[in-house]
Amino acid sequence: MSTTAPELNYIDCHSPHFTAMSDQIWNLAELRYEEFASAKLHIETLEAAGFRVTRGVADIPTAFVAEAGNGGPVIGILGEYDALSGLSQEAGALTCKPSSEISNGNGHGCGHHLLGTAAHLAAAAVKEHLERSGQPGTVRFYGCPAEEGGSGKTFMARAGLFDDLDAALTWHPSVYTGVISGTSLANIQAYFRFRGKAAHAANSPHLGRSALDAAELMNVGVNFLREHMLPDARVHYAMTDTGGLSPNVVQPNAEVLYLVRAPRNDQATELFERVKNVARGAALMTDCQLEVVFDKACSSILQNSVLNQLMDKHLQALGAPDFDADEIALASAFQQQTLTDEDIESASRSLAQAWRDPKPLFDHIDLYQPGKEGQLYGSTDVGDVSWVTPTAQCYTACYAFGTPFHSWQLVAQGKSSLAHKGMLLAARTLAGSAIELFSAPETLAQAKAELLERRGGKPYVCPIPDDVALPFRR
Ligand SMILES: [Zn+2]
Repeated sequence: MSTTAPELNYIDCHSPHFTAMSDQIWNLAELRYEEFASAKLHIETLEAAGFRVTRGVADIPTAFVAEAGNGGPVIGILGEYDALSGLSQEAGALTCKPSSEISNGNGHGCGHHLLGTAAHLAAAAVKEHLERSGQPGTVRFYGCPAEEGGSGKTFMARAGLFDDLDAALTWHPSVYTGVISGTSLANIQAYFRFRGKAAHAANSPHLGRSALDAAELMNVGVNFLREHMLPDARVHYAMTDTGGLSPNVVQPNAEVLYLVRAPRNDQATELFERVKNVARGAALMTDCQLEVVFDKACSSILQNSVLNQLMDKHLQALGAPDFDADEIALASAFQQQTLTDEDIESASRSLAQAWRDPKPLFDHIDLYQPGKEGQLYGSTDVGDVSWVTPTAQCYTACYAFGTPFHSWQLVAQGKSSLAHKGMLLAARTLAGSAIELFSAPETLAQAKAELLERRGGKPYVCPIPDDVALPFRR
């Protein structure tokens, strides 16, 4: 893609370096709150480019803020770099097999190696623009750890790190290209710990109180609760302690981890209270003690149509990535040899506009329709940022159409040239959108007014209470 705007030329010039950086982070594949080497790589590159970096923000060792420029407006660009466990996968391979380049068994199954790198590159291009133009304003790159199951940004929001932003921009790698116009689900995650009393299961069962029974009854109760909750709500659980391996011992301890999701924060809170009541009932039935340990939470996305339209304009002007024959052939091989018709059909369903007869690679830009906001059934901690400051996000096509998130197929395509092309389109979109905002005070004012209106006059309340410690500090 040839471009003429200087900030886009900056991206063209620096793209080989950043492509290599995304590959390096793919190899590192570090899990939530353990992204030490990935964060270091970002920080060192940012400092070398002249950013002022604050490390360990919000008391999180792998979180940081890098800033350039002076005064207002202050535009934030959000980056992530965490991977998922158990998803190590050979790059480019069409069968599921662990990668020899990844030593820890993890894998970038959500493309956050691309996400953070494009956001970083965009921030560097914006810095270059501010310096060259002499325009007042500050660009801030947020190094956000632990999006996967850690709610890193929610803890950062609780610490007030986004409070002085005029707007925030980000993106996510995907199988198609377009502004993200759907709202994600708010969620709350908590451990339910039951304590009973051990006893010989045959000699003196009457002396035992089974914590495992309590956990099982809680799960049964919650499964009955499903019939009477909002259709768009979700409740998931994992048994994290079954109380031991001996059936002849009455299990004195058991623990189950619950993840509750609902379209709005207040609905998630209400459903969480009902789940807690089921747990209390289970504890009562089994004569066990119950302890509820709040783990993490995140808010739903508050859409901002003013910012979405601005980002959509830049995306439409840049156009879809120009995939070459080799890239189309690779995507076609993934589609035909590793994906099902249902995978592909499911990807089509999440588009604003139906895509009939899908090709291996998404070749256009999904039309943004203001006011038409679908429901996304995942959750993201970008939600919390969107309640604090006007926020917009886009998807760009980095993978064969139909590739599911959190799959080995997605990891396998993460170092391909097609993933890199999608990443660079995201960097251009973020940079172009941010640069326009520095000279569009009325757009920022409209975006802020829309945020206040959508919040209904209420302030942002972080869904993680103040007394909840970071997961790795417990
Ligand atoms: Zn993700």
